[in-house]
Amino acid sequence: MNTEKIQRHNERMKTQKKIVDTYIDNADIERGVLIVITGNGKGKTTSALGTLLRSLGHGHQCALIQFIKGQWDCGETRFFAQTDTLTRLSMNTDFTWNSQNFTKDKMAAKAIWQQTLPFFSDEQCRLIVLDEITYMFKYHYLKLDELLNALKNRPIQQNIIITGRAAPKELLECADTVSEIKAVKHAFNQGIKAQKGIEW
Ligand code: ATP
Ligand code: MG
Repeated sequence: MNTEKIQRHNERMKTQKKIVDTYIDNADIERGVLIVITGNGKGKTTSALGTLLRSLGHGHQCALIQFIKGQWDCGETRFFAQTDTLTRLSMNTDFTWNSQNFTKDKMAAKAIWQQTLPFFSDEQCRLIVLDEITYMFKYHYLKLDELLNALKNRPIQQNIIITGRAAPKELLECADTVSEIKAVKHAFNQGIKAQKGIEW
């Protein structure tokens, strides 16, 4: 870059820094956030797990609740089994399109929801990840109002991450951060087999 271009770049960076500094100065509220990661692209659960790792790294007590997934032997399950600051719960059933049993799945959803409730009143629990919970409302296994109520009454510093496609609009409305992952391409559509360490 010539001198003139470098000077223009530096000016732009100065302006950018001013904007960012103003945002930082204005953001002075300290409370937990509700993050929703939705959309059809790959990266929702893995993004939530990344933040979970970050929180655990700071020594926080966390909970990972996996709806839909069942007793799958995922890499994350193996890895997190070593972590005593994490409680992990998963649904006592298989993928819904495998089991095709509405009553059984609804009972399993209700059971895991009952086990999840105490975390919403535990001030020591800094982060709860509700992985794939959006499907519980889509399939009418759980009532959205019960989740909205638990979110509203949780400890002020508690963070929540919700993942899953088709997040209900009421949930998006009460979230602080919403990211929608767009599927631009997926290896599966090119016939590439799902693989250990990438898909599970
Ligand atoms: P990941 O767990 O990899 O972050 P995800 O949580 O975004 O994925 P889910 O909808 O929960 O995606 O689906 C889980 C599985 O489906 C993963 O194995 C993922 O690779 C695969 N998958 C996600 N998006 C797509 C897509 N657009 N097409 C095909 N397969 C997909
Ligand atoms: Mg997922």
